[in-house]
Amino acid sequence: MFYSGEELKAVFHKAKQQRFGIIASNVVFDFTIRGILQGYDQTKSDGLLQMSSGAVKYAAGNSKDMNTGAQLISTMIKTLSQQFKHSGVGLHIDHATPNYFDFIVYCLENNLVTSVMIDASHEKFSENIRISAEVVKIAHKYGVLVEGEIGYIKGSEDEIVSDTELYTNPEEALEFVKKTKVDLFAASVGTNHGVTKGSEVVLRLDLIKKIDDLLIANNVETGIVLHGASGLTTRQQQDAIANGVVKINKDTMYQMEMASAVQAYWEKEKDAIVKPAGISDHDYMPDKKRFDPRKWIGKAEENCSRALQELTVISGSAGKSILL
Ligand SMILES: [Zn+2]
Repeated sequence: MFYSGEELKAVFHKAKQQRFGIIASNVVFDFTIRGILQGYDQTKSDGLLQMSSGAVKYAAGNSKDMNTGAQLISTMIKTLSQQFKHSGVGLHIDHATPNYFDFIVYCLENNLVTSVMIDASHEKFSENIRISAEVVKIAHKYGVLVEGEIGYIKGSEDEIVSDTELYTNPEEALEFVKKTKVDLFAASVGTNHGVTKGSEVVLRLDLIKKIDDLLIANNVETGIVLHGASGLTTRQQQDAIANGVVKINKDTMYQMEMASAVQAYWEKEKDAIVKPAGISDHDYMPDKKRFDPRKWIGKAEENCSRALQELTVISGSAGKSILL
């Protein structure tokens, strides 16, 4: 099913109390959405789908009209998710920078999303607080949750690029959460956006724990969000959750799963569309049964679904839907 903001709040509350993680999956295509929704339902896990600014522009086609793209993605998710009874999902706007303020308001007014990330992390700290608090004020009126961020997460993902890394300062995190009243909080704790190898990432578990402990001690317990988590090892993800992370973002990982599935398919089935050397035009016929896009895109869909199911087991959200 498709969750309201209130229901999504219950999802994160349960995850925080029981120390498991909710997998947030970046999507744009219908087949990814389908594979991922089926995956969440298979393992009876709640989840979150998220769309970046680049994704909504892509979805709209040449116009790049973000409102159109968001309407399309939201409608696909709402329609498809109605079929599933063992899990629920919300839709989240990923990394909306302050220049997308009007886009956020459009999504709120049209009831397209369940939560939104305002990323004003590259503004001055005081300005980040002011902008994030303003988004919280409007979003909460619509019952929509808000994720904020302080610190820089290194790497590139979609339109978000940072050459530098700036770890989140726990005292600033506390001030930020208190003043903005965000529901979720993205911390820069060593992960990088894009392709990474977990074994090379120095995940600052000490920092996650320090932030979490400080927020709890001040009665503003908030779900910590881990960005740039695609390449992390099982152990790293579980340690992060044990120390206070409640939402784990996955984007690059699905892109790799899709690309590798399609590459493997075409390596094997190349002769379905390319005439092998040494065969005459007369003897060769392309094979519609194998070049039908549903066949090879279907492999990408299956891979996304399988990868998501494994993730819900790793994060502990499998079998924990609030609907059960
Ligand atoms: Zn991110």
